[in-house]
Amino acid sequence: MTAAPDGLPPLAALETARLDWRSDASGEAAPHSPAFDDVYFSRHDGRAETEHVFVAGNRLAERFREWREPRPFVVGETGFGTGLNMLCAWACFDAHAAPGARLHLVSTEKFPLGREDLARALAAWPDLAERGEPLVAQWPEPVAGVHRLWLDARVTLDLHLGDAAERLALLEGRVDAWFLDGFAPAKNLEMWRPELFAAMAARSRPGATLATFSCAGVVKRGLAAAGFSWRKAPGFGRKREMLVGEIASPPTDDRRRQTPWFTPPAARPPRHVAVIGAGIAGASAAAALARRGIAVTLIDRQGPGSGGSGNAQGALYVKLAADTNLQSRTYLAGLLHSRRWLETLDPDRELWSPCGVLQLARSEKEQARQTRFLAHHALPEGVVQGVTADETTRLAGIAIDHGGLAYPQAGWVRPAALCARLAALPGIRLRRAEVVAMTPDEQGWSLALADGECLSADQVVVANATLANRFTQTSRLPLQPVRGQVSRLALPEGAPKLERVICATGYVSPALDGKLTFGATFTPHATDTGLREADHAANLAELEATLPALVAALRDAGARLEPSQLTGRAAVRAASPDKSPYCGPLPDAEAWQDDFADLAKGATRIPETPGRHHAGLWISAAHGSRGLASAPLCAELLASRICDEPLPLEQPLVDHLHPGRRLIRDLIQGK
Ligand code: SAM
Repeated sequence: MTAAPDGLPPLAALETARLDWRSDASGEAAPHSPAFDDVYFSRHDGRAETEHVFVAGNRLAERFREWREPRPFVVGETGFGTGLNMLCAWACFDAHAAPGARLHLVSTEKFPLGREDLARALAAWPDLAERGEPLVAQWPEPVAGVHRLWLDARVTLDLHLGDAAERLALLEGRVDAWFLDGFAPAKNLEMWRPELFAAMAARSRPGATLATFSCAGVVKRGLAAAGFSWRKAPGFGRKREMLVGEIASPPTDDRRRQTPWFTPPAARPPRHVAVIGAGIAGASAAAALARRGIAVTLIDRQGPGSGGSGNAQGALYVKLAADTNLQSRTYLAGLLHSRRWLETLDPDRELWSPCGVLQLARSEKEQARQTRFLAHHALPEGVVQGVTADETTRLAGIAIDHGGLAYPQAGWVRPAALCARLAALPGIRLRRAEVVAMTPDEQGWSLALADGECLSADQVVVANATLANRFTQTSRLPLQPVRGQVSRLALPEGAPKLERVICATGYVSPALDGKLTFGATFTPHATDTGLREADHAANLAELEATLPALVAALRDAGARLEPSQLTGRAAVRAASPDKSPYCGPLPDAEAWQDDFADLAKGATRIPETPGRHHAGLWISAAHGSRGLASAPLCAELLASRICDEPLPLEQPLVDHLHPGRRLIRDLIQGK
């Protein structure tokens, strides 16, 4: 497969599986793949086969019973198919694991089932019905990449959609037990190639086990070449044999040879974390940590959602580059993640609406950009599609002269209410205070507060936007303040109804609580938060240029579209120079300066020294005006890293977000 310009597999829709439903020995319809001429499972004894081959083959009952680690037990799989194997692993976990234990499932799938097929396949197992529900409800669009699903409070599933070998090579995380599934090698030799076994070995914990139904020579040779030992075990039913095995000493991760600075610090799962900043970045990080049983003190000078996340309504959307790059991938992953996350957090949709977003092509330049984007990204229509002016008009419910891109997964959120909801979750203690300094101590970190008090925590997440680089340890992070003002118009009776969020240079959302919100201005380096009439005027001008028909209809309905009649809110957001967020462990800038000084003499002078970081200090900041799409995913990323779990993003995207990226760039450029 040809790689995208950033060297990763194409950011595209995957071919979904075409199933036929054939009567099996029991006379009942079972899913069969005509493409591979093989079955997903047998209706008669498929469940028992899974239990025998994969669950017992990896001794899961016994290992779950004994599991006492603070990190989750990780099961990895090739070929997710209908999810039967993973649901059985989950059932085994529930039957045997201690209450505090957690389970993390990682599975790859190149030809994901359609949602209806998935539901139909799982209906074969009535006693798994309850477990199948969150899977079907959160089933992602068939987009290549990582999709995190929350199956219940203790169980997480990461679906890595794409080819197993490619996806496991990009996985950041290690596995305790492998389910080596997939259609039989005789029917799907492509999957069982040496790269797959090598990637499995490299992503294994020491002592990781494996089990597979296949005893084919290609499997035995592939496993052995990658460092796994294997032996035959009694197979299921009429199959005489299967394979089980393990890897005592997995290879080290050689992906860091080119980027040793991004080597992650050793994880030390904490008991208590202080999160500084209760905007969307901090509040979502607090929620992600609390979900993992960590006590969180969420500290904010003014309370939840008081800065850039404090608007009554904000757009959940992204703008993707015409040519695939790491930033676009990260934002698209973030958008899809936020959507699933909101659905799980707030199924009644009190805090958000998935009404969809239309990104208009108002200029020829933007039209050309969108055409290029569509040519380079064959994404599913459920994620993004090109639409004509007639379609934008129909979708928006307002006459629009331009076509554009439609994002059905996007919409709007009540950011201030969302932050308040997150801050009130169990396990989070909200503290109104200002942190002025952080000092490492024996326990972890001591935080000096402006009121003279001190607060101790095992670890700290810095998430206070423009103030994130105020500390000694963060002072080298470039952050730019960007003032933004939104305007709100009280709608008169009979005002036209906008059905979608519309974006061009600014955005306007469907009415909420009788008001139309539009904006926002973008003023770099300005830090005052007073409302400016000139900014209201600019927002009005932008609204009129984008949706003249809406503005005319509002005037006809009696709305007073004048700056003096508008309310609104101004806040300061933080942006990084490259416009991607900072998310990850905080580098020890002085140590990097010494350890990587040779980069100034040539970018290829890469030492073997791993990057040194401030132990237990993390950041999620610089979300700019796209925090609703980026912060919840960054929160999961941090919490997963902190708790030594597999990460919900591919390794190159994790590196792309690393807060040390600018330090390295500056060193290479001799700054
Ligand atoms: N584990 C599944 C279950 O519990 O339902 C059954 C697996 S089914 C027999 C094989 C699966 O492997 C199919 O879903 C197929 O699409 C997937 N597959 C085939 N080739 C693949 C590849 N190269 N990478 C990832 N998945 C692949």
